Amino acid sequence: NAPLSEVDPEIAEVLERELNRQRGFLEMIASENFVPVSVLQSQGSVLTNKYAEGYPGRRYYGGCEEVDVAESLAIERAKALFGAEFANVQPHSGASANAAVLHAIARPGDTLLGLALDQGGHLTHGMKINFSGRLYDIVAYGVDPETSVIDMDEVRRLALEHKPKVIIAGWSAYPRQLDFAAFRAIADEVGALLWVDMAHFAGLVAAGVHPSPIPHAHVVSTTVHKTIGGPRSGLILTNDEGLAKKINTAVFPGQQGGPLMHVIAAKATAFKLAMTPEFKERQERTLRGASILADRLTQDDVKNAGIAVRSGGTDVHLVLVDLRDAEMDGKQAEDLLHDIHITVNRNAVPNDPRPPMVTSGLRIGTPALATRGFGDAEFTEVADIIALALIPGADVEALRARVAKLADAFPLYPDLQQ
Ligand code: PLP
Repeated sequence: NAPLSEVDPEIAEVLERELNRQRGFLEMIASENFVPVSVLQSQGSVLTNKYAEGYPGRRYYGGCEEVDVAESLAIERAKALFGAEFANVQPHSGASANAAVLHAIARPGDTLLGLALDQGGHLTHGMKINFSGRLYDIVAYGVDPETSVIDMDEVRRLALEHKPKVIIAGWSAYPRQLDFAAFRAIADEVGALLWVDMAHFAGLVAAGVHPSPIPHAHVVSTTVHKTIGGPRSGLILTNDEGLAKKINTAVFPGQQGGPLMHVIAAKATAFKLAMTPEFKERQERTLRGASILADRLTQDDVKNAGIAVRSGGTDVHLVLVDLRDAEMDGKQAEDLLHDIHITVNRNAVPNDPRPPMVTSGLRIGTPALATRGFGDAEFTEVADIIALALIPGADVEALRARVAKLADAFPLYPDLQQ
């Protein structure tokens, strides 16, 4: 039981360097966040030792009395947080949750209608070489090329034409709210089930600063580690008892074996924290940060450099930058921001003329910086830094110094040692 630094100094050094990287950079990948120390504690706990196949009170292993308490707390809190009647907290990840949803509500060969990957959808919504694309017959809708907004008339037209078994509403890169009621009306009209994947905006929903899909969807899946800021993992919710039973069977034994009890305990803590006023205030700062960024990136100096904000703004936690008419491509922009110590990811724009490893877009999100404590003043500063970085001729040294000042003012995990 020697410490990691003795047993495996190479890995210990990775942990230490990664902590320093997270401290020194401004994290603006829209799907990332910083978990609280309380969540790190559960994830690094003895619960990792426990096998607990089954569900609380119905396990296939002995010695589950304590982990049953943890899972029951996670379930009850997830239900209370989102106002749902049933919750499955066992999915190891968002993709595992989505595999279980499809396992529960569709059969291989059924038709699914979801947002195309290159228009902002997720791999598990029907990408060709993902399990979803291989097992199901995929029809994809997109965004309007002019407005970058999903055209519900087009969704309805495709639904009427292809009669899908499942309609998927949800995204990984889309800057606007979805009209859940309109999706449900289309699903009802064609006899489809509506599955909402709220992985990205679940924290906003939990805080009540974004409409909830729960009253509209047959099933809702999410990750717990993006805007919610909990452990890397998934969650499935429904109000339908029959579907809840199918989902439980689909998760275990359908898709998974033993649940990750250390992660489930950490989810319980994350859901508890998400019910606090501090969480709501953080989600409000997240939204304001994104809109400050969108406003700055639509000013004339940026526009004149051929840079645009897709859909002209945002009402969620991210901004999509369109570089099709800019000097810089997505890869160059990502690298340049990395050089000044801001982390973002490049992202294809619809009908992107550049290859997927290069792209003509950036996805920039505010959840992690809001967790770090950023408010309007800091988001205004970071927005200006990004704007100036993207305009040709940036003074990289000066911008890096401005980033360092912000990072130093908001120390991350000040008492943590890896
Ligand atoms: N669903 C959506 C909409 C996502 O954006 C993501 C992750 O990016 C996932 C599912 C998958 O989550 P994970 O990476 O935990 O498998």
